[in-house]
Amino acid sequence: MKGPVATRLRIPYVIAHAGEAVPQRLRFVRRPLGGLRLAYDDPRRGDEAYGVLRVRVRGTRQGAPQWRMLNTLRQWRCMERHLCQVCGEPATDPASGRIPWIMTDTAFRELPDDPTGGLTSAPPTCEACIPEALATCPQLHISSAVCTAARSEPAAVLADMFTPGPNGRAVHTGEHNVEISLKDETLLPYALATQLVVQVHDLRPAPHPVG
Ligand SMILES: [Zn+2]
Repeated sequence: MKGPVATRLRIPYVIAHAGEAVPQRLRFVRRPLGGLRLAYDDPRRGDEAYGVLRVRVRGTRQGAPQWRMLNTLRQWRCMERHLCQVCGEPATDPASGRIPWIMTDTAFRELPDDPTGGLTSAPPTCEACIPEALATCPQLHISSAVCTAARSEPAAVLADMFTPGPNGRAVHTGEHNVEISLKDETLLPYALATQLVVQVHDLRPAPHPVG
């Protein structure tokens, strides 16, 4: 970004900050029913969500913003609670009960069996923040649609993939942002989830499209 606009923009709620990264010490452990699954060296309650290991991050918002990265905790929270990705407040319109959502070419995928819905990894954006979200990212303006959704539910994760190495260590395969369905019991044990993907239902164009 350049020019005076950049200085007025807030750092969006979902953006990761440099001080939030945590070392990931991972290994494979045997599952009670056979097979292996990825785990932390020092397991804690809450490491897993929807049957997949989730990357550990801090939620302090300290350090320089990492403009191309999302903070996993906040992205997840936005998806589960329908919080705005820019301001972090509830995004649902109290009058209509519908959730405003900017659907972009890169973060939205149609599903063959759902003509009015699809999958997205981008959280909702409240109506007040939509102009700012579109201004922050000129690309968003070109390849996006401002919609509302009736509801959503967790459907998949984006994940880094690991394979067992010597002494049970987990070795990154080099694959990032692999989309894995929450029903895929074959791949989930080898995944470290970084983003939650939801299926949105009953998408409609926003009543007052911006821009
Ligand atoms: Zn907002």
